[in-house]
Amino acid sequence: MEWKELVRNTVNSPEKLVDHFPDFELDLEELKRVHEEFPIRVNPYYLSLIREPGDAIWKQVVPDSRELVPNGYDDPLGEEGDSQVLNVTHRYPDRALFYVNYMCPIYCRFCTRKRKVGDPYSIPNDNLERGLNYIREHPEIRDVIISGGDPLMMTDRRIEQVVSGLRSIEHLEIIRIGSRVPVTLPQRITPELCKILKRYHPFYINTHFNHPREVTAETERACSLLADAGIPLGNQTVLLRGVNDDTEIMKELMKKLLAIRVKPYYIYQADLVFGTDHFRTSVEKGLEIVSALRGHISGLGVPHYVIDAPNGGGKIAVSPDPVINFNEKEITLRNYEGNLYTYPSSPTC
Ligand SMILES: *Cc1c(COP(=O)(O)O)cnc(C)c1O
Ligand code: SF4
Repeated sequence: MEWKELVRNTVNSPEKLVDHFPDFELDLEELKRVHEEFPIRVNPYYLSLIREPGDAIWKQVVPDSRELVPNGYDDPLGEEGDSQVLNVTHRYPDRALFYVNYMCPIYCRFCTRKRKVGDPYSIPNDNLERGLNYIREHPEIRDVIISGGDPLMMTDRRIEQVVSGLRSIEHLEIIRIGSRVPVTLPQRITPELCKILKRYHPFYINTHFNHPREVTAETERACSLLADAGIPLGNQTVLLRGVNDDTEIMKELMKKLLAIRVKPYYIYQADLVFGTDHFRTSVEKGLEIVSALRGHISGLGVPHYVIDAPNGGGKIAVSPDPVINFNEKEITLRNYEGNLYTYPSSPTC
């Protein structure tokens, strides 16, 4: 199916979801209650990856009554606090997030931007100019991440408008898009789109694979088109209980990503988003996963494990500490197999 047709046939109501799974017992009333809080949205392609109720794909898109349990925050990262205009979050000195739309191919139940996603009033279309002006007036910004929602859900024309608008800003060096489209609607990545994007280098895409089963022939085709257009691809995974909180699953995911030319960039500890506590794992689990990756697969495949600090503290990388002992004379380190090695702390002359 062509991507626009997949979007047209998207399951976006509790009734349609129940109809899609005639063999499974879904509670319509419960779905309706959750849908009111954060809408259901999943296209036929991503639905086709589900093998059985409760699997790693299902959990990402099918509502769960635990989403209504009051825990967490609407804006766990304090993004609004770092926004002087509605659609730009400017937290770090030299880079900014630029929100251009509110829609995605699927609505992930754990989404950090639930407060904006799915709500057409949260990121109004007519605000583009205001965001561009803000970036133009801040010469310290040299790197912009186009975000949303999902920017690649827009038409080719609209995407080019945004990207070319940014490219016309003299002080901007790097343009990036954060998008789950290569994973959740890979059919959207067309030669025409790539032809547009490659005109605006240096241009990067960070995508969001969470599970090895999301790496399919379709996603591989999409990533190849992008990589062949010279676009470096990175991946940001969210550590999710029951989805990918397992060392073997993560190892397989990272290996599969490298094989389709996607560089694992971040693993996020799940943010404290409202109603997502059932997705959260212990930090210990995250550290265990990073330990299981380091040394066991290429350094290329080992992402930074980060906790995005509440209240706008930003991303903080945490890693299992290999330093056993450190003094003026020597440092004692543990390698990936658990063996200890010492190394002189400073040169002798
Ligand atoms: C993650 C993030 C960025 C980009 O961070 P990088 O580490 O450069 O990828 C920029 N702004 C905000 C607010 C972010 O959360
Ligand atoms: S694709 Fe990204 S922004 Fe959209 S619902 Fe999923 S996590 Fe949120």
